[in-house]
Amino acid sequence: MSRRVIALRNGSCAVAGNHVFQGGDPNVLYEFPLIVWLVEGGEEGPVLVDAGLGHVEEMNAGAAHVLARPIVQQPEEQMTAQLARWGYTPQEIRAVILTHLHFDHVDLLDLYSSAQIFVSRKGLEAATRFPNWMGSWAPHKTLKLLVQEAADRTVPVDDAEILPGIRVFWIGGHTACSQCVVVETDAGPALLAGDAIFRRENLSRNSPIGIADDPAQARTALEVLRAFPGPIFPSHDPVIFEAYGGTFP
Ligand SMILES: [Zn+2]
Repeated sequence: MSRRVIALRNGSCAVAGNHVFQGGDPNVLYEFPLIVWLVEGGEEGPVLVDAGLGHVEEMNAGAAHVLARPIVQQPEEQMTAQLARWGYTPQEIRAVILTHLHFDHVDLLDLYSSAQIFVSRKGLEAATRFPNWMGSWAPHKTLKLLVQEAADRTVPVDDAEILPGIRVFWIGGHTACSQCVVVETDAGPALLAGDAIFRRENLSRNSPIGIADDPAQARTALEVLRAFPGPIFPSHDPVIFEAYGGTFP
């Protein structure tokens, strides 16, 4: 097994420091790429970590309070174009692992019509516990897919090796459904953090994310991630492009 992780750039925006860090400076803006991860090299075929964003205007309207600069998505940053760069169609994706159920991470889940879908079990239970899903942080179309339309290919699971060399563990903090994905690559394990941290500076400054349903858990997440022995790739940190050229290894 020789897996590698490839960053697919799905758009970008800017977010102010008080959202990036608890108690951060609202006058400092941070570049926020939207990253979906393609994991290659397994016998099952190509795997995605998160599903990507297609409905940019809907996202920008819903997240206006945290976007210092709205999301812009170039034509080549659309998910189908990003997959085509690596020779895949959405129908060829064999599995989609969701780091959490926020719109920018799950919007296009219905594209991957042959994929197994992995989602945090206790996160999905929390997201669907409200009557008629009212008040849930997860898009209703996504919940409908997970528990109804695509229930036969959805695997709710916590803290398990879900595919050879790929394991997930629940982390919470940002949302009750937040989980991290560890991929065993040729260069050792890599951790896809989702939004458990937004940038590696959350670790280096010892400052948890400023957008957290459970701020105490978001702080605990720093300790969990700090103990990880390999590189950590958050979903909105340009480090993967700047330091690694977009793939690991
Ligand atoms: Zn996000």
